[in-house]
Amino acid sequence: MVADGVLRQPNLMLNQNGERFMDEGMLGNTTFSGNAMFLQPGHYAYVIMDRAILKKYQEEGPDIMDIVHPAAGFKMLDSVIKKAEANGYDAIITADSVAELAEKLAIPAAKLQKAIADHDGYCDQSQDTEFFKNPAYLHKLTGEGGYLVGKFYSGAYGTVGGVKIDENCQVLDDEDQAIPGLYSAGSDANTIYADSYNFTLPGNTMGFAVNSGRIAGLEAAKRIKQ
Ligand SMILES: Cc1cc2nc3c(=O)[nH]c(=O)nc-3n(C[C@H](O)[C@H](O)[C@H](O)COP(=O)(O)OP(=O)(O)OC[C@H]3O[C@@H](n4cnc5c(N)ncnc54)[C@H](O)[C@@H]3O)c2cc1C
Repeated sequence: MVADGVLRQPNLMLNQNGERFMDEGMLGNTTFSGNAMFLQPGHYAYVIMDRAILKKYQEEGPDIMDIVHPAAGFKMLDSVIKKAEANGYDAIITADSVAELAEKLAIPAAKLQKAIADHDGYCDQSQDTEFFKNPAYLHKLTGEGGYLVGKFYSGAYGTVGGVKIDENCQVLDDEDQAIPGLYSAGSDANTIYADSYNFTLPGNTMGFAVNSGRIAGLEAAKRIKQ
């Protein structure tokens, strides 16, 4: 959705305890950030920005750009927020003050205030001495115009890992021996990824699904003929 790309920018990211846990500059790599988020309480994290930062993105472009979330999305955020609120969607949170934000996020206000102050301090000195985020991504959170927060969960586009197969898509047993007549393909057999989805090659899961399905079908037909 539009808000995903707008709010998933390398701004202050906190877990439910109000703690930073990674270099937010890595948010563009959903494999790294998804694994880090998954280790947090509740398996989610909040990415916090304000309207001053949004304005900067609208005028100068975002920090993290990708083809799935074009720059036009940054101009459409208000209508998306309105729709999200009307539909009771709880992954976009807005607030006019730190106190209101703390209440909405259920993070103790003093902890949230400190996390913001620490982060602003790194922005002032152009150096993140905690997680060493790229200084180009250090934008102060003044709260100007109100806070905009995205709640992010790690998710999946399909399964990773899964049933072990050989090059003919035959399912392997615990001793890596082919089980005669049993084939697996697509997401169920996506052993090429082990535990992390690879984003560097567009269409690679779909490509694997189509081709492993084709190979499994051909091999099964060959077996039936024999
Ligand atoms: C939001 C999203 C975005 C994605 N973007 C990309 C992308 O950009 N590039 C890319 O390469 N991949 C992408 N993928 C992944 C890609 O869609 C999958 O890898 C691919 O669809 C897997 O194909 P499949 O045939 O293995 O499984 P599926 O497409 O999941 O097909 C499984 C089928 O089995 C049916 N089924 C399940 N249980 C039963 C049952 N008991 N009986 C009968 N039928 C059953 C299901 O209804 C479904 O039709 C994306 C996935 C999602 C969800």
